[in-house]
Amino acid sequence: MSALFDPENAIYPFPAKPARLSADEKTFYIEKIKGLLKERNAVMVAHYYTDPEIQALAEETGGCVADSLEMARFGSTHPASTLLVAGVRFMGETAKILSPEKTVLMPTLQAECSLDLGCPIDEFNAFCDAHPDRTVVVYANTSAAVKARADWVVTSSIAVELIDHLDSLGEKIIWAPDRHLGRYVTQKTGADVLCWQGACIVHDEFKTQALLRMKTLYPDAAVLVHPESPQAIVELADAVGSTSQLIQAARQLPHPQMIVATDRGIFYKMQQAVPDKILLEAPTAGEGATCRSCAHCPWMAMNGLKAIAEGLEQGGAQHEIAVDPALREAALLPLNRMLSFAAELKLKVKGNA
Ligand code: SF4
Repeated sequence: MSALFDPENAIYPFPAKPARLSADEKTFYIEKIKGLLKERNAVMVAHYYTDPEIQALAEETGGCVADSLEMARFGSTHPASTLLVAGVRFMGETAKILSPEKTVLMPTLQAECSLDLGCPIDEFNAFCDAHPDRTVVVYANTSAAVKARADWVVTSSIAVELIDHLDSLGEKIIWAPDRHLGRYVTQKTGADVLCWQGACIVHDEFKTQALLRMKTLYPDAAVLVHPESPQAIVELADAVGSTSQLIQAARQLPHPQMIVATDRGIFYKMQQAVPDKILLEAPTAGEGATCRSCAHCPWMAMNGLKAIAEGLEQGGAQHEIAVDPALREAALLPLNRMLSFAAELKLKVKGNA
């Protein structure tokens, strides 16, 4: 078996930040994108971590702004023939796997994710082969090839529930790729989980001591934490959850301020949900920090207005997602399992409400 991926020593090809646009250029590209969306019968599917102006444009043009689970659902049920996915590449691949008949375009195919990069298929295959008795559960933040190897795909919004379900069936589990989320679901469920050691470069950088200091500065604030964050950060949380669950928590908690430990792109939708509350970024930069983005994913930041217009206008190999048909077929099974499980869970929650 090959050695496990080592996130501490991983070197990622960080992209350059997109050039800033003037106000006139922004207006130009926004109008252009609106026209191209109509012309192409296309809809925008944007992630919470993209820049606020991208989320606003998705909303204004009838698209969606969501977490990766909802993006997958929306894209597969929307009647548009083209999906413009503003996010990172695995999100475009997921859209294509679920909607092979649609054209799936991205502003750039270079928008990576450290979790995806940190789980190469050859090493992952060797890891799974060494533990054939375990059910393989992979996070949505993986390549089509890794999904094709899995029994289940899962997003952070249903990870605890799925692992709990598999544990109740007596299954032993391989979890990949995020080590912090893997540890979190293991602690929550008590399941027998063997964890791949990937990490998100954004969440991995939240700083415990600085967060403690921030809590003393804002004693009335609640701390909201995404479970891709290190354990010491999760332990300081008033609420832990996926992006959608954190927005929900901001609504439900009585605190007037929220210290938020996830990508700051989420502030756009969170502020809509709690217009009267003050949202504060949890501290990232500090001694030893390796994240250049300071609570903003450098790959999500590649989804600029100019790149979106180019993607819609040019399409082709630079922008269109292609997934090998055999891989697609194999990856569809665990993805559909996830969607069915999520739908059943939703019904159960409704039934209990
Ligand atoms: S924020 Fe982290 S998990 Fe999300 S796309 Fe960026 S690197 Fe991947």
